[in-house]
Amino acid sequence: MPNQLLLAASRSPRTRTAVSRFRLTRRLVDRFVAGEGEQQVVPVADRLVRAGLTVTVDHLGEDTRTAQQARATRDAYTALLAALHGAGLAAAAEVSVKLSALGAAVPGDGSRYADEYAHDVCAAAAAAGTTVTFDMEDHTTVDTTLSLVGRLRLQFPWVGVAVQTYLRRTAADCKDLAYPGSRVRLVKGAYAEPASVLVRNAREVDAAYRACLETLLRAGAYPMVATHDPALIAHASALTGELSVPSDGYEFQMLYGVRSQEQLRLAQAGNRMRVYLPYGDDWYGYFMRRLAERPANLLLLTRSLLPG
Ligand code: FAD
Repeated sequence: MPNQLLLAASRSPRTRTAVSRFRLTRRLVDRFVAGEGEQQVVPVADRLVRAGLTVTVDHLGEDTRTAQQARATRDAYTALLAALHGAGLAAAAEVSVKLSALGAAVPGDGSRYADEYAHDVCAAAAAAGTTVTFDMEDHTTVDTTLSLVGRLRLQFPWVGVAVQTYLRRTAADCKDLAYPGSRVRLVKGAYAEPASVLVRNAREVDAAYRACLETLLRAGAYPMVATHDPALIAHASALTGELSVPSDGYEFQMLYGVRSQEQLRLAQAGNRMRVYLPYGDDWYGYFMRRLAERPANLLLLTRSLLPG
């Protein structure tokens, strides 16, 4: 399970200021984040695609508090989609979106902004010839995200959504999402959550992951196996073989900067392998969740803060 202290820090404005002030932190951030603008991220996407991978590009940001910020995020996605299309990458590069970035948490009209702007991003993706997957955020947002995805799928059946197997509710959500063509990204989960909504321990998270994957595969859905966990990757390979699922019936996904050699190995073995590629200047929350996932990353951060 992720480190709770770091996850708490990921939501603290004071720690955000302190961490962002260290110039050397930037080098470590660059390991996980592909620059601040489209000009940086598109060439990185191009390099990954040339290496035989596909990508899902995320414009970083999750603390949208005003209508203006929400609109700016929508505009950033439409510009990004046009740039991916212009670079000839639309067939291999989709986008990942957080509803909070599109304004879902703006006081008052938040859900209206999120609905409208999510629709705009999907329409821009359709025009560019690619797809959109909605990230899943903390447990209070799951109902809103799933119901919006349900509505969007009436017009854009290719809309994908992430589900987190650390949540008790996810077994049921997976059953609801298990139908032919349904694009579902399976993740363990990365947020600080109250024990009351979580399964009991890491072993149960993994068991739920395997069960959910099987439910999706048996229904002819399109699972996106988003994990770096070697045991789950091996399990997914074995299960898809057992169920005779063709190689275009599912895909693996990993984060940019994590297990890059394994990403190439899976692609070279004939698997669809998609890299989650974040960019933008609002990297703090994303970066802290990556630190929380692996104690060794914290060591790297500490070293980057030391002089010399
Ligand atoms: P773990 O058991 O955590 O890790 C297995 C091994 O992978 C580790 O031992 C380590 O070697 C390596 N590893 C894992 N994480 C890191 C890291 N940060 N740095 C270096 N090595 C690492 N979570 C959400 O809550 N919502 C989302 O929408 C979401 N989308 C995601 C999209 C993708 C493509 C991926 C890969 C993850 C996403 N996550 C999301 C994060 C996810 O929930 C987990 O927190 C994260 O993937 C770590 O879990 P794991 O499955 O890799 O297994």
